[in-house]
Amino acid sequence: MKVLITEAEIQERVCGLGACLSEKYAGRPLTVLGVLTGSIVLLADLIRATSIPLRVALIEASSYGETRTEPGELTINIGLVPDLKDRDVVILDDIFDTGNTMVGLYDAVQSFEPASVQSAVLLWKTDRTVVDLQPDHFCFQIPDEFVVGYGLDYNDEFRNLPFIGIPNEEEMHEAVKGQGG
Ligand code: 5GP
Ligand code: MG
Repeated sequence: MKVLITEAEIQERVCGLGACLSEKYAGRPLTVLGVLTGSIVLLADLIRATSIPLRVALIEASSYGETRTEPGELTINIGLVPDLKDRDVVILDDIFDTGNTMVGLYDAVQSFEPASVQSAVLLWKTDRTVVDLQPDHFCFQIPDEFVVGYGLDYNDEFRNLPFIGIPNEEEMHEAVKGQGG
Protein backbone atom coordinates (compact mmCIF):
# COMPACT_ATOMS: atom_id res chain seq x y z
CA MET A 1 0.00 0.00 0.00
CA LYS A 2 1.12 3.54 -0.69
CA VAL A 3 2.46 5.04 2.54
CA LEU A 4 1.45 8.66 3.21
CA ILE A 5 2.85 8.97 6.75
CA THR A 6 5.40 6.55 8.18
CA GLU A 7 5.31 4.89 11.59
CA ALA A 8 8.34 6.95 12.69
CA GLU A 9 6.75 10.23 11.60
CA ILE A 10 3.57 9.36 13.51
CA GLN A 11 5.47 8.45 16.68
CA GLU A 12 7.41 11.72 16.58
CA ARG A 13 4.31 13.88 16.22
CA VAL A 14 2.25 11.91 18.75
CA CYS A 15 5.07 12.29 21.30
CA GLY A 16 5.04 16.03 20.55
CA LEU A 17 1.29 16.17 21.14
CA GLY A 18 1.70 14.28 24.41
CA ALA A 19 4.33 16.76 25.60
CA CYS A 20 2.15 19.70 24.56
CA LEU A 21 -0.89 18.39 26.45
CA SER A 22 1.26 17.56 29.50
CA GLU A 23 2.40 21.17 29.68
CA LYS A 24 -0.99 22.70 28.96
CA TYR A 25 -2.97 20.56 31.43
CA ALA A 26 -0.44 20.23 34.27
CA GLY A 27 -2.30 20.53 37.58
CA ARG A 28 -5.70 20.34 35.81
CA PRO A 29 -8.34 17.55 36.00
CA LEU A 30 -7.84 16.26 32.46
CA THR A 31 -9.97 13.62 30.77
CA VAL A 32 -8.85 12.41 27.35
CA LEU A 33 -12.05 11.33 25.58
CA GLY A 34 -11.25 8.91 22.76
CA VAL A 35 -13.74 8.56 19.92
CA LEU A 36 -14.52 4.95 19.04
CA THR A 37 -13.36 3.20 17.05
CA GLY A 38 -10.79 5.07 14.97
CA SER A 39 -8.93 6.78 17.82
CA ILE A 40 -7.96 3.68 19.81
CA VAL A 41 -4.42 3.32 18.43
CA LEU A 42 -3.73 7.04 18.79
CA LEU A 43 -5.25 7.03 22.29
CA ALA A 44 -3.00 4.20 23.43
CA ASP A 45 0.14 5.89 22.12
CA LEU A 46 -0.81 9.43 23.18
CA ILE A 47 -1.57 8.66 26.83
CA ARG A 48 1.80 6.92 27.13
CA ALA A 49 3.44 10.05 25.72
CA THR A 50 1.98 12.21 28.51
CA SER A 51 3.61 12.81 31.89
CA ILE A 52 0.67 14.13 33.95
CA PRO A 53 -2.18 12.41 35.83
CA LEU A 54 -5.22 12.05 33.56
CA ARG A 55 -8.36 10.02 33.05
CA VAL A 56 -9.27 8.14 29.89
CA ALA A 57 -12.85 7.87 28.65
CA LEU A 58 -14.59 6.73 25.48
CA ILE A 59 -17.45 8.04 23.36
CA GLU A 60 -18.85 6.47 20.22
CA ALA A 61 -19.47 8.34 16.98
CA SER A 62 -20.43 6.81 13.68
CA SER A 63 -21.87 7.97 10.41
CA TYR A 64 -23.51 5.55 8.07
CA GLY A 65 -23.42 6.78 4.49
CA GLU A 66 -24.27 5.43 1.06
CA THR A 67 -20.67 4.39 0.49
CA ARG A 68 -17.86 3.22 2.73
CA THR A 69 -15.73 6.29 2.04
CA GLU A 70 -18.27 9.12 2.43
CA PRO A 71 -19.84 10.05 5.78
CA GLY A 72 -23.61 9.93 6.27
CA GLU A 73 -25.92 10.69 9.17
CA LEU A 74 -24.06 11.16 12.46
CA THR A 75 -24.94 9.09 15.54
CA ILE A 76 -23.28 9.76 18.91
CA ASN A 77 -23.57 7.29 21.78
CA ILE A 78 -22.75 8.80 25.20
CA GLY A 79 -23.50 5.56 27.04
CA LEU A 80 -19.85 4.95 27.95
CA VAL A 81 -19.04 8.53 28.99
CA PRO A 82 -18.31 9.01 32.73
CA ASP A 83 -18.98 12.18 34.74
CA LEU A 84 -17.10 15.07 33.09
CA LYS A 85 -18.50 17.89 35.20
CA ASP A 86 -15.85 20.54 35.97
CA ARG A 87 -13.18 18.51 34.21
CA ASP A 88 -10.99 19.64 31.31
CA VAL A 89 -11.82 17.45 28.32
CA VAL A 90 -9.75 16.78 25.22
CA ILE A 91 -11.83 15.03 22.56
CA LEU A 92 -9.43 12.78 20.65
CA ASP A 93 -10.34 11.54 17.17
CA ASP A 94 -8.46 9.96 14.31
CA ILE A 95 -9.34 12.48 11.62
CA PHE A 96 -11.05 15.85 11.18
CA ASP A 97 -12.59 15.68 7.72
CA THR A 98 -15.70 17.85 7.13
CA GLY A 99 -15.65 18.58 10.87
CA ASN A 100 -19.31 17.59 11.37
CA THR A 101 -18.38 14.75 13.73
CA MET A 102 -16.32 17.04 15.97
CA VAL A 103 -19.11 19.64 16.08
CA GLY A 104 -21.56 16.91 17.15
CA LEU A 105 -19.11 15.64 19.76
CA TYR A 106 -18.64 19.16 21.19
CA ASP A 107 -22.42 19.49 21.61
CA ALA A 108 -22.65 16.09 23.28
CA VAL A 109 -19.77 16.82 25.67
CA GLN A 110 -21.07 20.29 26.63
CA SER A 111 -24.14 18.66 28.17
CA PHE A 112 -21.84 17.17 30.86
CA GLU A 113 -20.86 20.71 31.99
CA PRO A 114 -17.08 20.27 31.70
CA ALA A 115 -14.67 23.04 32.77
CA SER A 116 -13.28 23.21 29.22
CA VAL A 117 -13.36 21.31 25.93
CA GLN A 118 -10.68 21.11 23.25
CA SER A 119 -10.15 18.80 20.31
CA ALA A 120 -7.11 16.86 19.16
CA VAL A 121 -6.78 14.74 16.02
CA LEU A 122 -4.08 12.83 14.24
CA LEU A 123 -5.11 14.02 10.77
CA TRP A 124 -6.80 17.14 9.44
CA LYS A 125 -8.12 17.20 5.85
CA THR A 126 -8.01 20.98 5.62
CA ASP A 127 -9.54 21.21 2.12
CA ARG A 128 -12.65 19.30 3.18
CA THR A 129 -13.57 21.22 6.32
CA VAL A 130 -17.06 22.81 6.13
CA VAL A 131 -17.62 23.90 9.76
CA ASP A 132 -16.44 27.02 11.64
CA LEU A 133 -14.63 24.87 14.19
CA GLN A 134 -10.97 23.88 13.71
CA PRO A 135 -9.09 21.22 15.66
CA ASP A 136 -7.18 22.77 18.58
CA HIS A 137 -4.40 20.22 18.16
CA PHE A 138 -3.48 18.13 15.12
CA CYS A 139 -0.48 16.06 14.13
CA PHE A 140 -0.67 16.23 10.31
CA GLN A 141 -2.56 18.18 7.67
CA ILE A 142 -3.32 15.88 4.73
CA PRO A 143 -4.78 16.27 1.22
CA ASP A 144 -8.26 15.05 0.24
CA GLU A 145 -7.40 11.36 -0.05
CA PHE A 146 -9.11 8.40 1.62
CA VAL A 147 -6.61 7.02 4.13
CA VAL A 148 -6.41 3.95 6.35
CA GLY A 149 -4.16 2.59 9.09
CA TYR A 150 -3.21 3.55 12.66
CA GLY A 151 -6.84 3.05 13.72
CA LEU A 152 -8.52 4.23 10.51
CA ASP A 153 -10.48 1.59 8.62
CA TYR A 154 -12.01 0.70 5.32
CA ASN A 155 -14.90 -1.74 5.84
CA ASP A 156 -13.46 -2.34 9.34
CA GLU A 157 -10.11 -3.49 7.97
CA PHE A 158 -6.62 -1.92 7.98
CA ARG A 159 -6.89 -0.43 11.51
CA ASN A 160 -3.84 -2.46 12.54
CA LEU A 161 -1.43 -0.95 9.99
CA PRO A 162 1.26 0.99 11.90
CA PHE A 163 1.39 3.72 9.19
CA ILE A 164 -1.13 5.92 7.36
CA GLY A 165 -1.66 4.62 3.84
CA ILE A 166 -3.76 5.29 0.76
CA PRO A 167 -5.39 2.02 -0.40
CA ASN A 168 -5.78 1.41 -4.12
CA GLU A 169 -8.91 0.02 -5.80
CA GLU A 170 -7.67 -3.55 -5.54
CA GLU A 171 -6.84 -3.31 -1.84
CA MET A 172 -10.27 -1.83 -1.14
CA HIS A 173 -11.99 -4.50 -3.21
CA GLU A 174 -10.15 -7.26 -1.32
CA ALA A 175 -11.18 -5.72 2.03
CA VAL A 176 -14.85 -5.92 1.04
CA LYS A 177 -14.61 -9.39 -0.49
CA GLY A 178 -12.66 -10.83 2.43
CA GLN A 179 -15.48 -10.06 4.84
CA GLY A 180 -18.34 -11.02 2.57
CA GLY A 181 -19.56 -7.41 2.63
P1 5GP B 1 -16.15 14.32 9.53
O1 5GP B 1 -17.41 14.31 10.33
O2 5GP B 1 -15.09 15.22 10.08
O3 5GP B 1 -16.42 14.59 8.08
O4 5GP B 1 -15.62 12.87 9.48
C1 5GP B 1 -15.03 12.30 10.52
C2 5GP B 1 -15.10 10.80 10.41
O5 5GP B 1 -15.19 10.33 9.04
C3 5GP B 1 -13.83 10.24 10.97
O6 5GP B 1 -13.94 10.05 12.37
C4 5GP B 1 -13.70 8.95 10.20
O7 5GP B 1 -14.44 7.95 10.86
C5 5GP B 1 -14.33 9.23 8.86
N1 5GP B 1 -13.31 9.58 7.84
C6 5GP B 1 -13.14 10.77 7.25
N2 5GP B 1 -12.13 10.73 6.36
C7 5GP B 1 -11.64 9.49 6.40
C8 5GP B 1 -10.56 8.82 5.71
O8 5GP B 1 -9.83 9.35 4.87
N3 5GP B 1 -10.36 7.51 6.04
C9 5GP B 1 -11.12 6.85 6.96
N4 5GP B 1 -10.83 5.58 7.19
N5 5GP B 1 -12.13 7.45 7.62
C10 5GP B 1 -12.38 8.75 7.35
MG1 MG C 1 -14.39 8.23 13.33
